[in-house]
Amino acid sequence: MIKSCYILNGNNIMKNIDHDKTKENFKYFILITIMPIIGIIVIFSYAFLHLQKDLEFIIDEIRGLSTIKEVQNTVFNLQRARGLTCIQEPSTNLLQELELTKEKISKNLVSLREGISAHNKNDFLKSELLNFTDSINKSTLVFASFDYFSKLIEEFMSYSNRISYGCNLILDPKMDSYVMIENVVYLLPRLIEYNGQIRAIAASTKDGELTEYQKEYFAIQLNKIEEVLKKLEFNLDMLYKTDQNIDIKEHHLKMRKAQKAIIEFTKINLLGTGSVALEPDGIFDLITKNINLIIALYDANVIYLEKSLNNRLNETKEVSNYVILAGVLSILFIGYINGIFYCKNRKYIKNIQKLTITDSMSSLYNRRHFDKVFEDNLKIQSRTKQPLVFIILDIDFFKQYNDTYGHQAGDIVIKIVAKNLRASLKRAGDMAFRLGGEEFGILCIGMSHSEALSFANSIKERIENEKVKHEKNQVSDYLTISMGVIVIEPDTLHNVNEIYRCADKALYMAKENGRNQVVIYNDKNFI
Ligand code: GH3
Ligand code: MG
Ligand code: MG
Repeated sequence: MIKSCYILNGNNIMKNIDHDKTKENFKYFILITIMPIIGIIVIFSYAFLHLQKDLEFIIDEIRGLSTIKEVQNTVFNLQRARGLTCIQEPSTNLLQELELTKEKISKNLVSLREGISAHNKNDFLKSELLNFTDSINKSTLVFASFDYFSKLIEEFMSYSNRISYGCNLILDPKMDSYVMIENVVYLLPRLIEYNGQIRAIAASTKDGELTEYQKEYFAIQLNKIEEVLKKLEFNLDMLYKTDQNIDIKEHHLKMRKAQKAIIEFTKINLLGTGSVALEPDGIFDLITKNINLIIALYDANVIYLEKSLNNRLNETKEVSNYVILAGVLSILFIGYINGIFYCKNRKYIKNIQKLTITDSMSSLYNRRHFDKVFEDNLKIQSRTKQPLVFIILDIDFFKQYNDTYGHQAGDIVIKIVAKNLRASLKRAGDMAFRLGGEEFGILCIGMSHSEALSFANSIKERIENEKVKHEKNQVSDYLTISMGVIVIEPDTLHNVNEIYRCADKALYMAKENGRNQVVIYNDKNFI
């Protein structure tokens, strides 16, 4: 059965060959484009994921810091409530203040709970902290003892510490952040707590009388304060070295003054031999004023830390956006460059392919291409079962033409013959070749004997009608050609050389019979 897609067509063969080559080129294009793109995707994805990890780390730190801030605010109010409950026979004002502080603590606990719930990590710490805030909420606090408050405060400070580990704060690789975290999580809360304990005990004195135990306790607290102060000063000095414009210097100076005042007051009024001149609520107010200045330094430290973490977060986000942009641009660039290269290359290859199969003088297909196409046509013919026509033609008395008119004129004649052959081809599949010298070939598909004969004769007449003067042509006044034609029926001849030989035989017969004629090859005789 004849398959329509196999209709034998020389151009189709050419197109198939071109198509195969184009496909191969396209495969290489994809390969040299895909490989670097994969490389870029791998590198940029690695960088992007690395930055995402940094981002998560910083986001974790910021969340942790906000919880610690809330915990510490609760602690400040608990310290205040502890001081107020310790005052003996408090005035109505103080009682009102205690109520107010209690309300503040309740609010602190609510926002602390909300803050903790927003976290998605550290489930264990979260539930522990929630239970703890529940238990504080349930207690009245009004009649709570110094020890009870101190225990709550101690517990909260330990939570702060654990949160700082859980949220990576303490693992921050940046030196200045780490120093600030130490101030915010460890040093300043402790400093405030030691002063808060002094305030609570001092406010609890009746008529300025302190027990020996209490005095000893003060001495211990003062030692602890000195120790924390040294570390704090060291940390802040380090920060000033890295950041000249740091805006906590003013709070630092005020804190120093306030701390000195508390120490002096404790040494002179509480540890001294004389009795305290101030009433308990007076002592409470005085120390509270100074503690507030230390708290102000704490707040300044937190704000500084929040600011630097947020800056880092934004910088990292920006860098990861640049990484995505650079990745996309690199991919587009590679695609663009390779695309241009591919198009230019394809054009170049097509030109070279064309050159390799074209005869430069006649612009017809050359002998090399003829050999290939002839072979391919025979293979396709065996499938399509259509006759294949091969015409071989030769200029008559061409040697004499060259001798008479010169070699250059001979070249022009070759071009004239080639032009006429090209013009004679009617169907897309017909192909003309310069087989060598003044010898040409034509391959056509699907022509019967009679069609082939009249086609060849029309070419022969066409050449003669060009009226190229050839005085040495013994059969005409003009240039003529002789032609040998063979019509190959399907499943008859398969050997290219044999077919060529038969066609050549027919041509020879045409020459022998007097030239300027067409002879068609037949098994038995020649027509
Ligand atoms: P016949 O009628 O039997 O074919 O005689 P002929 O003279 O055409 O054949 P012959 O084979 O004796 O001579 C062919 C000549 O064609 C010889 C050669 O110089 C000439 N020729 C071959 N190639 C070219 C070419 O590219 N340019 C020119 N000008 N002449 C060529
Ligand atoms: Mg010849
Ligand atoms: Mg010749």
